[in-house]
Amino acid sequence: MEARARIERLRDELHAHNHRYYVLAEPVISDREFDSLLHELSVLEQAHPEFNDPTSPTQRVGGDLTDKFEKVAHRSPMLSLSNSYSAEEVAQWAERVQAGLPGEEVEFVVELKYDGVAISIWYEKGRLVRALTRGDGTTGEDVRANVATIKTVPLKLNDGAPDSLEIRGEIFFPWPGFESLNESRREAGEPEFANPRNTAAGTLKLQDSAVVATRPLDCMLYNIDAEAMTALAINSHSDAVQAAAMWGFKTPKGRRLEVVKSVKAIMSAVAYWEEAKNQLDYAIDGLVIKVNRYDQQRRLGMTAKSPRWALAYKFETERVSTTLRGVKFQVGRTGAITPVADLNPVHLGGTIVRNASLHNADQIAKLNLCVGNAVLVEKGGEIIPKIVGVDGGDSSSGDLFSKPISFPDVCPECEAPLIRKDGEAQHYCTNSSKCPAQVRGRIHHFISRKAMNVDGLGKETVNQLVNAGLIQDVADLYTLTLEDLLPLERMAQKSADNLLKGLDASKSIDFERVLFGLGIRHVGETVAKNLAKALGHIEAFKTTTVEDLMALEEIGPTVAESVASHFRDPVFLDLVGRLQMSGLRMEVTLQKPMGNALEGEVVVVSGVFETMSRDEAKAAVTNHGGRLVGSISSKTTLVLAGDKMGPSKLKKAENLGVPLMDEAAFLRRIGGQ
Ligand SMILES: [Zn+2]
Repeated sequence: MEARARIERLRDELHAHNHRYYVLAEPVISDREFDSLLHELSVLEQAHPEFNDPTSPTQRVGGDLTDKFEKVAHRSPMLSLSNSYSAEEVAQWAERVQAGLPGEEVEFVVELKYDGVAISIWYEKGRLVRALTRGDGTTGEDVRANVATIKTVPLKLNDGAPDSLEIRGEIFFPWPGFESLNESRREAGEPEFANPRNTAAGTLKLQDSAVVATRPLDCMLYNIDAEAMTALAINSHSDAVQAAAMWGFKTPKGRRLEVVKSVKAIMSAVAYWEEAKNQLDYAIDGLVIKVNRYDQQRRLGMTAKSPRWALAYKFETERVSTTLRGVKFQVGRTGAITPVADLNPVHLGGTIVRNASLHNADQIAKLNLCVGNAVLVEKGGEIIPKIVGVDGGDSSSGDLFSKPISFPDVCPECEAPLIRKDGEAQHYCTNSSKCPAQVRGRIHHFISRKAMNVDGLGKETVNQLVNAGLIQDVADLYTLTLEDLLPLERMAQKSADNLLKGLDASKSIDFERVLFGLGIRHVGETVAKNLAKALGHIEAFKTTTVEDLMALEEIGPTVAESVASHFRDPVFLDLVGRLQMSGLRMEVTLQKPMGNALEGEVVVVSGVFETMSRDEAKAAVTNHGGRLVGSISSKTTLVLAGDKMGPSKLKKAENLGVPLMDEAAFLRRIGGQ
């Protein structure tokens, strides 16, 4: 019993010292004293394994080996913010916000946009229980063992913290630690890491938490669910961050969390950080500006992709000069030819740049590039840097005998002739079905994370399978056997098993992602989702016409033409047929209704709502057994009426004697509140 009391006492003391040292930077004991307490605890814990506790300060050193990170659904999606690149855009956004809240005073918070990895950390009864990566935004991976080694992340919260808490923020690799890591890698003859962000992301995915513990990651936590905070009578973002600091988190302070009241003040904060960013000992790639008050955030609501009450401002891009060594012509899955510049490696915006996109033939002609030119490279909002011009303005810096780079006439992969369609900037390889680059590209797209997300199958393996003649299209993947795989180089029994397991698991991926994975031109993730929802079943695609498609919401002529022509192409139809035979999902899975509170009701949804978007309101109707209709008629039994419902609709409902129900009553009825 005595040992137990001492263990608990030591843990409490060490938690407190840890917090003072790493979070507050106000240590009250020396490193040596700290180490000696930690040592004492560790000896006692080893002697008394029965008092083992994963939140003990000794657990910071790691040691847990994770074979596979558990996938866990986020409690609410981890959304990204909309981006802006100029002061003007920021001002326009702030004015839109102001216009959305007429007559109200609006406070904005200006924060740093840490260039790291988003993380969502869950606490239960004050103890760290999960740490989820962003993943696809809906589901993340639990990297708790690794996050627990980060000294600024509390394993246990201070008194007064809510019983159950989720907090989000960013894990990043500060420059000094990153540089010393690279130094030790240089010494060990290992390749250096190119940028702190990717290294932080890679570190979080390491299976050995003891290695993670040797890398000085840092973590800033600042986002807490508004609803949870409102329940605690905390009514603004800045108040929540202050509360989080009390509970033990490392949170932004001072100018790193500045509350301002005017567009002008936002702009002066932006101007300040444009300069001051270089003095920080970690990388930021911009600022985040939010509406501070939760009630105002709620009223502004969301667009399809991101909240209206927040905006990311990206700093202007840096430019550097380097030498153009040559140009490679890459062939994409659609046959599009992309020229890629091969550059002398150069540091740019925290990464080492070796390649840059040249987009198309016009771009090359416009830049009038020669091999050997000194070129200006910059990194915009996109990941791949681009060449913006020849340094000095002309190409005289090229080799004396080098000619301007010219665009090829034939496909560099299969030598089929290239064509350029009217009105398009891109050249295409005409050998769609056989060009090896296109074949590989289509399969890479199909297995990618946003499409089928096949575990155990990467691009390299796909290339190997294509080269070995085992697969020619995505349907061939599902005919692979262990006997096919084992003779391949570097293919162990275990990897082969995993690959087949991954393929099998992909058969339960939703229809919309199968549709996206098919790689129909102009059908991106969102369009695939809309089409899947509207048509429901693959058979409906086979009979649909361009006109039918264009009648759908958000489907334009380009998409409609592309979809219709694919489903008339016998090669494509054959592929779809074989995928169907393999058991992939070819129809939308209907969600089970959550209740029957609206059974028998024929409902019209109109106006705007405070706690939900109109789409969410419609979904709520069907989820609770109601039938949705578009307009009010004598058959309508109920109108769910939000604010700003049109007067003609109101009148119609009144004339037909259809009862109106407001949002609050609706939520009560479906049992929401
Ligand atoms: Zn080709």
